[in-house]
Amino acid sequence: MRHRLLRAEIIETARRMQVVGLNQGTSGNLSVRVDDRFLVTPSGVPYDLMQEDEIVEMRLDGQVVGEGTPSTEWRIHRDILACRADVDVVLHAHPMFATALACLRREIPAFHYMVAVAGGDSIRCAPYARFGTQALSDLAVQALAGRRACLLANHGLLTLATTLRAALALAVEVETLAGQYLRTLEVGEPNLLSATEMDEVLEAFAGYGQPSRRRKAY
Ligand code: 13P
Ligand code: ZN
Repeated sequence: MRHRLLRAEIIETARRMQVVGLNQGTSGNLSVRVDDRFLVTPSGVPYDLMQEDEIVEMRLDGQVVGEGTPSTEWRIHRDILACRADVDVVLHAHPMFATALACLRREIPAFHYMVAVAGGDSIRCAPYARFGTQALSDLAVQALAGRRACLLANHGLLTLATTLRAALALAVEVETLAGQYLRTLEVGEPNLLSATEMDEVLEAFAGYGQPSRRRKAY
């Protein structure tokens, strides 16, 4: 079996999504770029039962290499990996708070400076399309333009990163922001940061943390 270690890491990360409360059952999926191909989780397999040989290898033209039925969202994974040279990992989940906002079809605006963690002054919500469709993938790619995360209307969230660990960490961060935003909305309308204030945050983020770990944290 090719890429055994990476397959094991994908399963470990998928199980962590469940442990940290981002997913349950067979919701969500994960992919990792490998050269000009990618590995993606199989469709409809509970994470605690998932085996390394069930992870599906695919080409960017959508052909399965070997055997297996890939995630129904393989088009999202393929399309993002094909058009985003800055991305090697795509994570999809249905966590409680991000999904609640997505069901309201509300983006996460600049209510908190950490919204910049996804690369801009908001975390957009892609319009609704049925799961597993090319239409959903197209809408997701648009909502992710210049960003590393988005919500999917009436569905869940997507995060993009260069490592599995970072994609998971970003998903936890976006889910936390979604929870904070919902909690704020229970009391009133939040005071949003201005475009200038968010530009300052984005600039400060560019120099945040340890240089050697930059772009690995998220
Ligand atoms: P898969 O099991 O096919 O990956 O589907 C889960 C999901 O979240 C669809 O959006
Ligand atoms: Zn989904």
